[in-house]
Amino acid sequence: MRHELLDWYDRSKRDLPWRRTDDPYAIWVSEIMLQQTRVAVVIERFKVFLERFPTAEALAAADEQEVLALWSGLGYYRRARMLHKAAKTIVAEYAAKMPTAAAELRKLPGIGPYTAAAIASIAHGEHAAVVDGNVERVLSRIRGWESYDSVGEAAVLRKVEEFSAGLVDPHRPGDFNQAIMELGATVCTPRNPQCLVCPWAKECRTLGEHKTPKRAPMTSREIACALIVRKGDAGTEVLLEQRAATNTVMPGMWELLLLPDGALAESDVRFTVRHAIMQVNYVVRVCEFREEDLALLKSNGSERRWVSLGKAAEMALTGLARKVLGKLRPRSTISIQQRSS
Ligand code: SF4
Repeated sequence: MRHELLDWYDRSKRDLPWRRTDDPYAIWVSEIMLQQTRVAVVIERFKVFLERFPTAEALAAADEQEVLALWSGLGYYRRARMLHKAAKTIVAEYAAKMPTAAAELRKLPGIGPYTAAAIASIAHGEHAAVVDGNVERVLSRIRGWESYDSVGEAAVLRKVEEFSAGLVDPHRPGDFNQAIMELGATVCTPRNPQCLVCPWAKECRTLGEHKTPKRAPMTSREIACALIVRKGDAGTEVLLEQRAATNTVMPGMWELLLLPDGALAESDVRFTVRHAIMQVNYVVRVCEFREEDLALLKSNGSERRWVSLGKAAEMALTGLARKVLGKLRPRSTISIQQRSS
């Protein structure tokens, strides 16, 4: 099975930027970015992030708001905060040198068993198996284990971990781990497994018949936000509000002022955007407000700031705020890539 998978990987692997390096820091950044974010999005952001923060030391020295600004659009901002925190730990406790063993990496903030095994095997050749959602799906299908049958989800995961630990190639553990994840991402996909081109079809007990649990359905929600602009010395300025530090979702990030339900007249709507966050599809009505009408919008005590559109691009904006402001000017002027080039 090892040879079949590695032969397939050598022939079919995608050329991804983090596969061209053995720098453990770069591999770590890519692994964190890839959790819950699409590869195409990560490809863009990975390069920009590494240009600005080429080492753990550079990342540790940065202001958190700048780290969040570079993370904007990738979502799940807790990942960026933990990455930043772990970089500081590496500088403070490991003389700015990342630990090499998976067991040691797991002591860092935000690095769990999966990420530790991925970094240690890919960058240092440690014989450690990774188990993420892709690996779990592929190996469960190979063996015909259903996560919601009588044995339960936790029991299946344990069996997958055992199977995976025995399967990982001792000579090429990093490639093996990347290969099995690649198989899950490109061939043994959740909805339409391509069994005809699968290198493990001979070993597979289910051949596409595995009952993959259904994805939780998306829900829809309508919200409205206020676009309040004025002419300032540096051109058009927009009013932004910072989310409270105690907020459980995206604390400290900047956004447009949200309007309370019912505060919106249809005629105020300048444009509508759609924005998905986890299982919710938001339909967002963006309404133009004049500066004089600001008193109508009660402050919730958070800091508000007038900023030029150019300056806004450098701030830790929520993904929604970045999307809305991107519609006011040519896309490139509000993008992170433009700012750092
Ligand atoms: S044969 Fe099909 S179901 Fe089995 S591992 Fe390969 S792609 Fe997945």
